[in-house]
Amino acid sequence: MQIYFLNHAMMVYTKAMKREKTRQTKIGTILIGGQNKVLIQSMCKHKTSDIDLVVEEINECAKLGADLMRVAVLDEADALAIKTIVSKISIPLVADIHFDARLALLAIENGVQKVRLNPGNIKDENMIKEVVLSAKKHGVVIRVGANSGSLNSDVDALPISLAEKLVLSAKKQIDILEKYDFRDIVVSIKASNIKETIAAYRLASEIFPYPLHIGITEAGPKDISLVRSVAGLSPLLLEGIGDTIRISITGDARDEVLAAKRLLHDCELYANYPTLISCPTCGRTQVDVRPLGEKIFTYLEENSIPLSVAVMGCVVNGPGEAKSADIGIAGGKGQYIIFKKGKLIKKMSEDEAYDTMINEIKSML
Ligand code: SF4
Repeated sequence: MQIYFLNHAMMVYTKAMKREKTRQTKIGTILIGGQNKVLIQSMCKHKTSDIDLVVEEINECAKLGADLMRVAVLDEADALAIKTIVSKISIPLVADIHFDARLALLAIENGVQKVRLNPGNIKDENMIKEVVLSAKKHGVVIRVGANSGSLNSDVDALPISLAEKLVLSAKKQIDILEKYDFRDIVVSIKASNIKETIAAYRLASEIFPYPLHIGITEAGPKDISLVRSVAGLSPLLLEGIGDTIRISITGDARDEVLAAKRLLHDCELYANYPTLISCPTCGRTQVDVRPLGEKIFTYLEENSIPLSVAVMGCVVNGPGEAKSADIGIAGGKGQYIIFKKGKLIKKMSEDEAYDTMINEIKSML
């Protein structure tokens, strides 16, 4: 019975962790889909024609780990700005366009590598055809999809679930692109409700062969978005669903990138990143754990050091956690002890703790 249970659990675990295989395509110089890594993306918060601000924002996000960045294209000035922006950044750029197909054509001519488009809100099919042919000629990927906030009224009136409505809406858009033999497609299905999002992406991953852009739309300010996004996206990532991710935050784009990176790391989909284990502290704590943990994690993150590091407040759970990490520090009365690979190696005063830990971490690299 016990053996059956273990075998069954292993089968479920192995199935859950396997990445879904989607059609591989190329955005600029990077690959998306297939078994490639889950790409991290965010969206610029500045107006695209404010070129210097946009370039600075993109380069900062790229430094933090963004694989691609999206800009909103509202007018001709935004579309024309793309030419200068792409010459000053090192990651692919996505143009987000609604209603006006001429802007999509202009963005493509100015060097954008991916266009987010909603063929459903471009009325003239000849214009859609022109965009598709231009995208094909320039090797540009098109992202289509559906958002719970902008469902077409015919689909919305159907007696089916929101997840089915979202997938059906996306299917209609994909049909338009496939009609012109276009296959370099990324699909997104966005809802702000996590259960509906999970159901819709599960369905989409069974129906569409294309890479999926996953995210919870309009997820709110940082603290709220982080909880909602993790709740909605972790089940998908752990089931192998998702080829690119955006954490939507009413706030800084850099926070979106860091949050995506941390979530992927915790789902074991992003390797080059530290794991911090730190205790919540309690009345037993006799050292100042919080600033020490924050300073150590900042150092590890800024230097992309993929070690697991424990920062613990006392000797109850401290040494145990500190022992099982690559390196750990546990507090006592005004002092700390350091464990490395499970062995106690040093005892020091609180003042010496940060520098001693950093030196020990450096010696492990
Ligand atoms: S490790 Fe010690 S100080 Fe930290 S929460 Fe647990 S008991 Fe409290």
